[in-house]
Amino acid sequence: MLFPYLKPVIPPPEAWVPHLEASYKAKFFSNFGPLAVRLAEQMSETYLHPSYEGVLCSSNTAGLLAALNAIDVYGKKVILPDFTFAATPQAIFAAGATPVVCDIDPMIWELCPKSLAAALDQHPDVAAVIHVRPFGFVRDISATREICASRDLPLIVDAAAGLGKTDTDHRFGSDHGEIEVFSLHATKVFAIGEGGFVGAPPDMIAKIRRAMNFGFNRDRTYEDGLNGKIDEFRAAIGLSTIEMINGWIDVRRQHAEFYDAYFEALPQHKLIQSPGNSPWAQYPVLFDKDIDNAAIGVFADLGIEIKKYYWPGVNNAYRGRRPIEAMPLPVSESLQNRFACLPIYSDFKPELGSIMRPRLASAIEAISEM
Ligand SMILES: *Cc1c(COP(=O)(O)O)cnc(C)c1O
Repeated sequence: MLFPYLKPVIPPPEAWVPHLEASYKAKFFSNFGPLAVRLAEQMSETYLHPSYEGVLCSSNTAGLLAALNAIDVYGKKVILPDFTFAATPQAIFAAGATPVVCDIDPMIWELCPKSLAAALDQHPDVAAVIHVRPFGFVRDISATREICASRDLPLIVDAAAGLGKTDTDHRFGSDHGEIEVFSLHATKVFAIGEGGFVGAPPDMIAKIRRAMNFGFNRDRTYEDGLNGKIDEFRAAIGLSTIEMINGWIDVRRQHAEFYDAYFEALPQHKLIQSPGNSPWAQYPVLFDKDIDNAAIGVFADLGIEIKKYYWPGVNNAYRGRRPIEAMPLPVSESLQNRFACLPIYSDFKPELGSIMRPRLASAIEAISEM
């Protein structure tokens, strides 16, 4: 494939192996070792609200579960949008709560405030709300924040693909104290292999850190929890990633601008609304028809690998036996089959755009005639 969907960039071993000297010297390879602590400090300073602290974990899924354990949602309900990856509902199930699936906004594809308010009226036993930042866009979430604050409800933000840039106007987090959870998976921009990062006010981070460490109390009794810790080897990669990532994101933004310029002239495709200060993990295009295997094949024949994300939506995708509740989902139902994400690279060059443009045009013309 000339344009594979993903070209993950992870710093080469020469860059990160030297960091490990500190871990070998301390004979400390996990359990919040020296590199994990150093990286969490650097990331908190770079990406989080000044009053926040951060902790690294083994994945975004583990971070979400630890946050739900820390809030203590067992036996209660947790709200999430239908348009998200499996990790979000799986963390809710693992925490022993029942997901209440809400609809999304048609313009920005995030949790719809009206659907959220209706769900809260219908379900008095909601213990937390998860707002998902789809495709790593970093948008203003004040509508959700205000609804949660007015009902005194904890808010978790699944910002899995959003790390690498800060929140739209300042940094991730606010005086409301929502918990932001990020993935450091190989397919994200801040990529170390498997990993995650959670930011929250210090008292909440202390509870989340405990949940990630089997829920242990000081006296060795334990609350709900898991092993969600990160090891020193992945923290070493992260210490190199944080030095290199801004350069990659500058290039990814140029690739996104290339697509913006291309799609502006095509009214049948919705342009991305207010993506915020995104690291451009993905470039989604919302088509006016379903993207099926035939459409994916059209792109593949022209050398472009496309991917569907967050499809099917949670309510259609979950086949397990646990209880799940859903609000009406007309917007998610009408949109979830129509997204295609295009390749977006950290080594984009204008010449590459010149090769891509006619192939993109041929694929889009063929699909419009299907
Ligand atoms: C990628 C992604 C995840 C998964 O993160 P892991 O680190 O693999 O657990 C969760 N939620 C969303 C919205 C994602 O895009």
